[in-house]
Amino acid sequence: MSREDSLVIHEIYTSIQGESTFAGLPCTFVRTTGCDLRCVWCDTPQAFQGGSRMTRAEVLERALAGNTPLVELTGGEPLLQPGVFPLMRELCDAGRTVLVETSGAADVSFVDARVHKIMDLKPPGSGEEGRNRWSNMLSITPRDEIKFVLADRRDYEWMREAIARHALVRRTPNLLASTVFGALATRDLVAWILEDALPVRVQLQMHKYIWGKDAVGV
Ligand code: SF4
Repeated sequence: MSREDSLVIHEIYTSIQGESTFAGLPCTFVRTTGCDLRCVWCDTPQAFQGGSRMTRAEVLERALAGNTPLVELTGGEPLLQPGVFPLMRELCDAGRTVLVETSGAADVSFVDARVHKIMDLKPPGSGEEGRNRWSNMLSITPRDEIKFVLADRRDYEWMREAIARHALVRRTPNLLASTVFGALATRDLVAWILEDALPVRVQLQMHKYIWGKDAVGV
């Protein structure tokens, strides 16, 4: 069996998308085990270890059995496992709309062009700012989404500068900003965005409003 033939999976389940421009839609989530970052506000530390090794064929079967048009690969960091790349291709071939949530630290250049990349760039408040792989911006297309989770005003100003310095508006219309739950008031974020006329979509982490603040991220 090659390294691409199996994956370590934390869980596979069906719910609704809590974030991104797909928020609110039914989606099957494939959550892989393992992450090479340790964001201070991470809401899925349980996915750092454990899980079960499954064949890729079994993961594909379970993901399709969710019977939702949308399938998201998430983690942890899904792109750490080589089997994720052929799995995403197979899900696209099966007619699914495929999303991958990635931290921005992993190389996305080998992700199938049909996949919607949702890249979570890390501001200083995450403690992982130094891990952003800026060369990934060359692989961002209008199909993709760039997400900023902000803990304070410093994070906001960092986002504003990153958007300008990397001309992110020219890469994708899907720039998303949300706050670390309980750390920064969304109304403050909205006021700052309006003041600067930033072309950013404010999003709420919908799953936390439905199932409570401890609900697992997507
Ligand atoms: S990249 Fe995601 S899973 Fe990894 S530590 Fe950060 S928030 Fe948690």
